[in-house]
Amino acid sequence: MNRPIVRHAPIVPGVPHLLHGGDYNPDQWRASKETTWKEDVRLARLAGINTLSVGIFAWAALEPEEGRYEFGWLDEILDLMAENEITAVLATPTGARPGWMSRAYPEVLRVNRDRTKNRHGGRHNHCLTSPVYREKTTAINTALAERYRDHPALGLWHLSNEYGGECHCDLCQERFREYLQTRFASLDELNEAWWTAFWAKTYGDWSHIESPSEHGHGEQDIHGLQLEWMRFTTEQFVDFYEHETAPLKAITPDVPRTTNLMGTYPGIDYFRLAQALDVVSWDSYPEWTGTEKDAAKGARASFLHDLTRSLKGKPFMLMESSPSATNWRPVAKLHRPGVHLLQSLQAVAHGSDTVQYFQFRKGRGGSEKFHGAVVDHEGTERTRVFQDVAEVGARLAELDGVVGTDTPADVAVVYDWHLRWALEDQKGMLQGRTDYEGAVVAHYRAFWEQGVPTDVIDSSLIASPGYLDRYKVLVAPMLYMLRPGVAEAIDAFVQRGGTFVATYATGYVDEHDRTFLGGFPGPLRETLGIWAEEIDALYPEDRNAIEWDGTAYEARELCELIHAETAEPLGAYGSDFYAGRPALTVNRRGEGRAYFIAARTGDDFLADFYGRLVAEAGVERALDADLPAGVTAQVRTDGTTDFVFVLNFTPAAVTVEAGGETIALAPFGNAVVERPRAQ
Ligand SMILES: [Zn+2]
Repeated sequence: MNRPIVRHAPIVPGVPHLLHGGDYNPDQWRASKETTWKEDVRLARLAGINTLSVGIFAWAALEPEEGRYEFGWLDEILDLMAENEITAVLATPTGARPGWMSRAYPEVLRVNRDRTKNRHGGRHNHCLTSPVYREKTTAINTALAERYRDHPALGLWHLSNEYGGECHCDLCQERFREYLQTRFASLDELNEAWWTAFWAKTYGDWSHIESPSEHGHGEQDIHGLQLEWMRFTTEQFVDFYEHETAPLKAITPDVPRTTNLMGTYPGIDYFRLAQALDVVSWDSYPEWTGTEKDAAKGARASFLHDLTRSLKGKPFMLMESSPSATNWRPVAKLHRPGVHLLQSLQAVAHGSDTVQYFQFRKGRGGSEKFHGAVVDHEGTERTRVFQDVAEVGARLAELDGVVGTDTPADVAVVYDWHLRWALEDQKGMLQGRTDYEGAVVAHYRAFWEQGVPTDVIDSSLIASPGYLDRYKVLVAPMLYMLRPGVAEAIDAFVQRGGTFVATYATGYVDEHDRTFLGGFPGPLRETLGIWAEEIDALYPEDRNAIEWDGTAYEARELCELIHAETAEPLGAYGSDFYAGRPALTVNRRGEGRAYFIAARTGDDFLADFYGRLVAEAGVERALDADLPAGVTAQVRTDGTTDFVFVLNFTPAAVTVEAGGETIALAPFGNAVVERPRAQ
């Protein structure tokens, strides 16, 4: 890796431990607080919990009538937490509103894409443009910050909860038009960028532009509109976050701030939102099955952790995870023995400095009353889940040395929200089956299975000067959209000696979703040394093959018909009218190489291809060992000591031979190995 190792400060200043805890709703238990709250604190300490997140969704408890605040209960619980050395992740309550606000000010209610206005209820049901909603948010956040600015329990601010959705009200329409006028110098420029001559959609005045709707302009006719609406929605959340944060920043400048993200949630470009956060946090709910399928589940969960870490390139927070069943999954399966500890250490292995849960104590009502919790309805420490949580608490307490450590990576895989929006809107190739995320995770998994630490980055990072210098290998599955500067940065990376891997469906459109002219992959044609003339979409039962080095690997779904120009063909299609034409190529350019995989393949091809590439490119693995399938190794380091996490996502006991040592892993087991870092 070509960048220095960095040791980061603990997330909560002055707390040099991995944080362990979860969402706690004492406001739901005010009637029995004399017994329940004290018991909760006792149980928290018993489970090795050193942080609790409070105040999420507590607006009605904090401001039961407009302008009348009730902070007494929060004072009491924060005092109790401070006395017991439990750090408070204190939330602003804006994830859900009290009913008085919706009744007095209907403008705060969201309007849907079909232009229907919501009733009061649910959560995330606010118009982010509404001046009233913004004013009420400032008032409650200011009151919270002023009251608790010097409270010894306050460690971190948690803004709202899981931002999401969009609003199409008249206020938001106006704001969208203002936003567009910052993006385009003139209406002519917008019309050209959005190719509005198609189907007579040319706009004659800014006031004619409306947000996308099923009943009007949308992804059917103006792709640029839909794309820009998603960018606008992202900017709305960034702007609202900054609005919500302003009083906290002014009154408690030393208390870090975050909001909890949701992996690859499609509605917000998290790379953009993360720029506004002090620390990134996210909510992870892998769909564990207790079977061999968990190897794939584990790879995807690791991908999401690596993506979350890469948003800011430093330790993050696992803000929510389930200690047992996840109530909103169609099958709320229990964690098998070992799985809770495994998923918790997995997050730490990939750069989390916290393991937190939704939820600490199960509520008695509402949709989440059967979601896994540290404290069950039974109410004591006698449950299996409580013991699992206490085991995690004990293990985390032994890992203070991991706090703030780095996660160096030689490899970066690209995941890009803007690209995804455009790719999923396009009408061609495979509608509804392009599966961009699945393609990215499949390439990622080939590194994960080898124990190769990997970053997950987007076009904004690729295009930032010098960013790619740290990597040896850059992999960009389905790099359909090339935003400004991306092709140039990738070409420079290859010329300097980097290894680049691209696939079918690369270099089709620009940042406005207009196709490139002059042959795909557009601005990457010279870098890859190929011309992609056509792309063949296959029915689900259709198969072709990539014949490479004596093996015929299955090809399916999308097969691109390419010409090797300066590239050297390495593999060829096995059948159909394009049998024998190149399907795998390498272009030697400058000091580096650019590979092109022309079709979607199975995991077997990716495992063999990346197995060779890792060796050829001199990529570092966490362990110099052959890892059994479904077992990964990841490393965190302070520059002197490496902490190697070896994680078994299979229901079988396995052993790993590394450096003359045998590491035995139970079913869904783990090991953390410390070793001096090779200099
Ligand atoms: Zn609105």
